Amino acid sequence: MPLDTSIEHARSLDADDPLRTFRDRFWIPQSSGKQQTYLVGNSLGLQPKNVAALVTEELEKWQTLGVRGHFESDRPWLPYHELLTPTMAKIVGAQDDEVVVMNTLTVNLHLMMATFYRPTKTRNKILIESHAFPSDFQAVESQIQLHGFDPKEAIVTVPHGAESDLLSDDAICDLIEKHRDSLALVLLPGVQYYTGQFLNLQRITATAHRYNISVGFDLAHAVGNVPLQLHDWDVDFAVWCNYKYLNSGPGAVGGCFIHERHATDKSLPRMAGWWGHDKASRFQMENRFDPIPTAEGWQLSNPPIFSLAAILASLQVFDDAGGMGPLREKSLKLTGYFESMLKESLGDRINIITPQTSSQRGCQLSIEIATGDVQGKEIHKQLEESGIDTDWREPNVIRAAPVPLYNSFEDVHLFVMTLKQIVDP
Ligand SMILES: *Cc1c(COP(=O)(O)O)cnc(C)c1O
Repeated sequence: MPLDTSIEHARSLDADDPLRTFRDRFWIPQSSGKQQTYLVGNSLGLQPKNVAALVTEELEKWQTLGVRGHFESDRPWLPYHELLTPTMAKIVGAQDDEVVVMNTLTVNLHLMMATFYRPTKTRNKILIESHAFPSDFQAVESQIQLHGFDPKEAIVTVPHGAESDLLSDDAICDLIEKHRDSLALVLLPGVQYYTGQFLNLQRITATAHRYNISVGFDLAHAVGNVPLQLHDWDVDFAVWCNYKYLNSGPGAVGGCFIHERHATDKSLPRMAGWWGHDKASRFQMENRFDPIPTAEGWQLSNPPIFSLAAILASLQVFDDAGGMGPLREKSLKLTGYFESMLKESLGDRINIITPQTSSQRGCQLSIEIATGDVQGKEIHKQLEESGIDTDWREPNVIRAAPVPLYNSFEDVHLFVMTLKQIVDP
């Protein structure tokens, strides 16, 4: 049956969507009094309306209680981060003792490498993808240098010619086999930021573990987007930011997963700080370090409470939506509709570089536009002028991410129709 490309059909899909009311729980950005069509939740998630109340609560506590805010009220600051753990653990498929909300992504990546990248003369290589996010590459390169090795020799990259090429799970596993005696760490994305490809994290982890190689994942584009089972997949560590699909605000505190097998091991070397020290004796101010035997044992400092309050508000929305199960269910429909609409309306004027198989992607589609006259960047600009927020990535891709919590089938319809008009006036 041909796809019904009418607006009425999009609206009927929205009417059938059990999560449709969640859109009202977010502030949708406006320009000239009109709501934007916001398809950049992969870059900065929208603000849930309950954020202001929870952040204000902490501002007021600071006003009225001062330092006593650490211990008094319903949500004392001292254990505030613990409030975030249960929902965050569910979102990444972890146990509570494996997850901690702290720092930001790149900082956590360094902390994790301090523990899990322990190079020796013969085993000192790190496997990453050749188009890794710059911060990940820079973190890896500098860690290798810190240990006195040469990045030119110690970085093994999974080749993919152009940015738009997909990674092959086979190629990754073959490369691990090939370098099995010299690799110390495999560090890959959960969902690749440029193409939107969701890698087979379980298979990659199992392959690396066969040769005692540690495995870490950067989940910046995976968390809150695709289903994860970090504990069962036996991943060693993972890091993520909370401002993309987790809607917790610009520069929000990030998240970190450390598998129970390691998290409970107090003998593991690490960068230490007082917030990772045993809670019972933390305030005795002794100069010894007794790590908390959970992921919290990697904390350094007391965290910024206002950011944690925004994360708490956002996680409440995830809980109310029923967690990743219902969200993924809607996401598959929404992005499936998006893909069909693009193909039906634009045919070979566009090339979707994101995998066609829904189990190999999240909500984002990355679109190359095969036009003679109108260049991709110009198209992106015209979309913006029409009130549609997408994201432009050099050299040649428009990324658009319909987020199941706040995007509608009508949003997708409007985007595709506007794009069609720009490309094919
Ligand atoms: C967004 C993103 C980051 C951001 O790092 P910060 O330390 O939070 O600034 C890092 N890596 C990837 C893959 C990302 O998508």
